[in-house]
Amino acid sequence: MARTTETAAATDTDPAAVVARLRAEFATGRTKPLDWRLRQLRALRTLLTERSEELLAALHADLGKGPKEAYRTEIAFALNELDHTVAHLTEWLRPRAVALPEALRPAEARVVRDPLGVVLVIAPWNYPLQLALTPLVGALAAGNAAVVKPSELAPATSAALARLLPRYLDPRAVAVVEGAVAETTALLEQRFDHIFYTGNGTVARIIMAAAARNLTPVTLELGGKSPVLVEPGADLAVTAERIVRGKFLNAGQTCVAPDYVLAIGDTAAALEEHLAAAVRAAYGEDPSADEEYGRIVNDRHFDRLTGLLDEGRVVTGGAHDRATRYLAPTVLADVSPDAPVMREEIFGPILPVIGVPDLDAAIAFVNERDKPLALYAFTESPATKARLAEETSSGALAFGLPVAHLTVPDLPFGGVGESGMGRYHGPYSIDTFSHTKAVLDKPLG
Ligand code: NAD
Repeated sequence: MARTTETAAATDTDPAAVVARLRAEFATGRTKPLDWRLRQLRALRTLLTERSEELLAALHADLGKGPKEAYRTEIAFALNELDHTVAHLTEWLRPRAVALPEALRPAEARVVRDPLGVVLVIAPWNYPLQLALTPLVGALAAGNAAVVKPSELAPATSAALARLLPRYLDPRAVAVVEGAVAETTALLEQRFDHIFYTGNGTVARIIMAAAARNLTPVTLELGGKSPVLVEPGADLAVTAERIVRGKFLNAGQTCVAPDYVLAIGDTAAALEEHLAAAVRAAYGEDPSADEEYGRIVNDRHFDRLTGLLDEGRVVTGGAHDRATRYLAPTVLADVSPDAPVMREEIFGPILPVIGVPDLDAAIAFVNERDKPLALYAFTESPATKARLAEETSSGALAFGLPVAHLTVPDLPFGGVGESGMGRYHGPYSIDTFSHTKAVLDKPLG
């Protein structure tokens, strides 16, 4: 049931006091019963439905997100995750009996899930609502108390979370701490039982070093350059349409967005034309007039992105306006693998297309670089699919459709190597936010 009291603290400012308060609450055992967990999840559902207009307005203020895209990728996404969790939580938490070696019988052995305690969720700005709430669903479902630290680069959404979460959820066990580097640094001086961080690899190293002081386990959901391979024989119209949908969502500011395309063999020229047509079909002749097309989060990222346009040939897009932080959906061709746009995660609406002679060269290109968060391929060849599965390493591998794998709640979501460590969503969130405990019970008789 939703809490309607306006007296709950809007935001907590003293990290030591917040963590001590949550730790004391966790110690009472109140967060452990299934009933408490389900009540939190249902209250979160009420928050997301009752306050959707307010949340959509915040997302528009922060990132110019249009109402349809914001609803689908932020609110509906979090609702799907929590509905799936509510439906399956009893089954996921059920102790699992395991077989015993002959010498120990008679006895029983089982695997149980213990909540960890007080967990910290640090969220980024690009999907500032769902990347705070989806980990929170897992943390609460696993019976923990939780501190949420939203991103200061999405201030309206951060303020909305600080205002609403303590009103709808149990404020004794859920706190929001707003702020930037100073506040996060102060939080990281506290001892947590798990830290779940989504963001970039540089800050991830700071998080992990801070966690090491208390032997706190971490989940690091990071980014990187997710490639798209396109093989001859793939339907290029369908391929281009799906790449465009995945790439330019949230103006390219999506961790699993296709970062660049490797066009294999003779596909590059025709693919470029199809990509330009797909951009026109999706966003019209003037994407700045499409209310669903987002804006770049801040001036720093805008300047970084426009600086990446200096090399290569613009196939479509390139237009930009600093005053509104608009950058058109842009496809770049004739890009050197050493160009600046290929040296960092783009995280914006620029899609370089690079030609490679064959599948061997494409696989080598991927394997010479950091392990990506996702690897995508458009191919009709089962042999190519098998080779990519065998010969490459990435957080996820998807054929024929970028980005959508993260909407399948029973698939683990996470990176490998530079793209992160650990995973969540659905049952994997229960793994992340629980201790998987061994219990042996041998009768004395
Ligand atoms: P960001 O700048 O909002 O930072 C993320 C969080 O780190 C914020 O809460 C911020 O306050 C905190 N932070 C920043 N500097 C800090 C410091 N010095 N010490 C402690 N905390 C600090 O977001 P970002 O990193 O710009 O996000 C973009 C990156 O996140 C991209 O690389 C993207 O690929 C990745 N990302 C990954 C996922 C995923 O699920 N794997 C999702 C979204 C974004």
